[in-house]
Amino acid sequence: MPTETKNIYVFGAARTDGDAKMKNLLGGKGANLAEMCRLGIAVPSGFTICTEVCTVYTEKGQDAVVKLIEAEMLKGVAFVEQEMGKKFGDASDPLLLSVRSGSRASMPGMMDTILNLGLNDDAVAGLARKAGNERFAWDSYRRFVQMYGDVVMGLKPVSKEDHDPFEVVIDAVKEKKGVQLDTELDTNDLKELVQRFKGLIRARVGREFPTDPWEQLWGAVMAVFQSWNNDRAKVYRELNDIPESWGTAVNVQAMVFGNLGDHSGTGVAFTRDAGTGEDLFNGEFLINAQGEDVVAGIRTPQQVTLEGSRRWAKLAQVSEDERRTKFPSLEELMPDIYQQLVAAEKKLEKHYSDMQDIEFTIQEGRLWMLQTRNGKRTGSAMVRIAMEMLRQGIIDEKEALRRVSPERLNELLHPVFDPAAIKSAKSIAHGLPASPGAASGQIVFFADEAEEWVRKGKAVILVRQETSPEDLRGMSVAQGILTARGGMTSHAAVVARGMGKCCISGAGSVHVDYHARSMAVGGKTYKEGDWISLDGSTGDVYEGRVTTKEAELTGDFGALMDLADSFKKLGVRANADTPEDAKVARAFGAKGIGLCRTEHMFFQGDRIRAVREMILAEDEAGRRKALAKLLPMQRSDFEGIFREMNGLPVTIRLLDPPLHEFVPHDEANQKIMAHEMNVPLGVIKMRVDDLHEFNPMMGHRGCRLGITYPEITEMQARAILEAGLNMKAQGIDVKAEIMIPLVGTVREFNAQAKVIRQTAADVFAQRGEQLDYLLGTMIETPRAALIADSIGGQAQFFSFGTNDLTQMTMGFSRDDSGKFLPSYLKDGMYERDPFQSIDQKGVGLLVQMAVEKGRKARPDIKLGVCGEHGGDPLSIDFFHRTKLNYVSCSPFRVPIARLAAAQAAIDNEA
Ligand code: ADP
Ligand code: MG
Ligand code: MG
Repeated sequence: MPTETKNIYVFGAARTDGDAKMKNLLGGKGANLAEMCRLGIAVPSGFTICTEVCTVYTEKGQDAVVKLIEAEMLKGVAFVEQEMGKKFGDASDPLLLSVRSGSRASMPGMMDTILNLGLNDDAVAGLARKAGNERFAWDSYRRFVQMYGDVVMGLKPVSKEDHDPFEVVIDAVKEKKGVQLDTELDTNDLKELVQRFKGLIRARVGREFPTDPWEQLWGAVMAVFQSWNNDRAKVYRELNDIPESWGTAVNVQAMVFGNLGDHSGTGVAFTRDAGTGEDLFNGEFLINAQGEDVVAGIRTPQQVTLEGSRRWAKLAQVSEDERRTKFPSLEELMPDIYQQLVAAEKKLEKHYSDMQDIEFTIQEGRLWMLQTRNGKRTGSAMVRIAMEMLRQGIIDEKEALRRVSPERLNELLHPVFDPAAIKSAKSIAHGLPASPGAASGQIVFFADEAEEWVRKGKAVILVRQETSPEDLRGMSVAQGILTARGGMTSHAAVVARGMGKCCISGAGSVHVDYHARSMAVGGKTYKEGDWISLDGSTGDVYEGRVTTKEAELTGDFGALMDLADSFKKLGVRANADTPEDAKVARAFGAKGIGLCRTEHMFFQGDRIRAVREMILAEDEAGRRKALAKLLPMQRSDFEGIFREMNGLPVTIRLLDPPLHEFVPHDEANQKIMAHEMNVPLGVIKMRVDDLHEFNPMMGHRGCRLGITYPEITEMQARAILEAGLNMKAQGIDVKAEIMIPLVGTVREFNAQAKVIRQTAADVFAQRGEQLDYLLGTMIETPRAALIADSIGGQAQFFSFGTNDLTQMTMGFSRDDSGKFLPSYLKDGMYERDPFQSIDQKGVGLLVQMAVEKGRKARPDIKLGVCGEHGGDPLSIDFFHRTKLNYVSCSPFRVPIARLAAAQAAIDNEA
């Protein structure tokens, strides 16, 4: 007999099986519902069907699930019946249930929830009698049929211009009646809606709406499992790196009712501001409402706190009088409930020691908690909350560093609108500052079109009436999002903050016309393709493009970086090719340049002419003549970089790419080149043909160039050393490191080293002065890694060029991997894209080996990495464990690398 596994975990007053630590099994929602029960917070009783059952559903289907959990389901429902003193399926006083999804990682709104399950034509009458409120019973029934019809029976819009079929019916009934709000519909209207909904389902789906509560329950459970694989959930998983294998749990829970009248309501709140991180409790609610009403942006939600309400009124340009009478805060409206909510909010934040996102419902003067989770937040809120919680003594330094995801720092590094440009910009609308940032783009109205436009290289602002989970992909590619409806907790706002995307929601003066593909605002019409700018920190919408300026490392961000530096063991340098890049790198805290690519300087201005002259030269004399023209230009570049990096090391790589990259390949440009160089077109063509290689990546490049044309190495070494001496004369502390690329044998290294040392001797003799410099190599061919001990005997430093090392070790190039790598990754052939995150088991082994061998040959050898991987947090963790001295990455990733290096040091502590 196999041992019985437990598939269902109950939570309630009498007993709670799970707790917050069981997220893997119970999903985040289920685990936290259990934890809240344990904390003594009022939560409607229920049970959680664990995530492993979802896997059974995906692999073996519905019947297998029923067989597996039927007995436990009966017990689970009996538990809830016991707790609530009502019977599921009882027509006179029915127990109603909600069926809610919940995976390990929170996926807000990505999967489906069904409320008021258990209703049918008999039960609705019982519910009405029992509550003494017929309208409430029919409102609940109407919602149930609508949600069930959508989620379980699959009645959805057919095309993207279509509205939700149920909403179309609701709108028709409202119009007939001449009302605007759901709350203005009376019992008869609601009865009519239920009949029409059922008729619509019958007509479009070809099946009757199920009346048996148990049939309803099984249908809903299966639909939640099914929703794990719906498109929007898939997209969300893809964007957030959530494995498909996790599955979702299902929570079945007794209903509490926010739609029982004016003493009931439902809301969402955050223990701190998810946009800015400010330590201010805030939230939104609606009276006489249920479920997603608040986030769906159907009615204008009210603020939970008085402070929030006043701030909102100011932004929405609502007078204090109007605010107090029409949109009072919960604090004013139900002071007792408000106090209970604040107590719960404080308890939860303290318990989880993190900002919480909570969902609650008020049923006739009684407060119920329906969800708590660590709230999604913007990158800047992440930083501020971590640093404030550190100062408040809630978390320690290590935890503060762990709380910020390195990638999210990107948002703080984005440009902001230039205050001067804002002054002259034309403000056309105002909405809620739902997610900060500065964004300019062309208006598009549909998510799929946003994707299309972005694919064509355009910058877009997605403008919607409101967003829904289907819009996810479009939102993720847009520069920013503008919605006409919805509050600070609307779908658009929550998702945008999670993505760190600029968003303005609830800009009520914006009228979107999807069919005409235009929006009207302030008497003017803006069409698809028109430019607008959004300031997500103020809620201002501007016409046209507003200019931006660079962000700075100040305040909490700066403090976080200092804290990171006090923990990290790895040094962080930047890859920078120009004095401007060097300056940015330094401002972001780079402690040197790990890679300066000299060839990037070859493309600037008319330098390419001299480069081409060199390439066309028939002999060494001709090449030297061209190189002499390049020498002063390179020298002045290096001077600028040394000046910026005063006191910090600068690693300069000698010429690396194959020469064909410097000549034009199309006839039009070849003609221009022929004209400029004053040679016949045929000569150019011949030389271009000469330079053609079948596999340039493995061709005549790297030190192979310097070995066949030593005069190139000579010129570059001279430019570096003369620049160094010139700067030294100006009192600048120059730390030059000359790096030979693509070495595979010791002799290659020695041959190039000889040229460089000889040049140095010449330069120093001429100038009568010396300059200290290091001479090292890249380790980027597998052979170099294999013989790193003998190379280490000669080279003073190694810099791992993990881009090339990856290509050559894997046997496929980054540029050509697009044809198979995406499907490889999908099928799990490789865990990750090896060009984004180092392949630790293969390429990583070569690095480890070379580190050991290098250190054995030369104990004080300097070891760094300058490939793209130097800015990738996972790779940084690996490089930390491999005990490199430093990583080098692009200037804008330096803060990310600093934080990731600190996290690596903390996570790998013994
Ligand atoms: P999501 O994962 O999209 O947030 P939820 O499962 O949290 O979906 O359900 C959405 C909303 O439905 C909740 O915020 C709550 O307002 C409402 N809801 C869910 N279960 C219940 C319940 N048992 N009683 C009352 N309202 C509920
Ligand atoms: Mg939902
Ligand atoms: Mg929820």
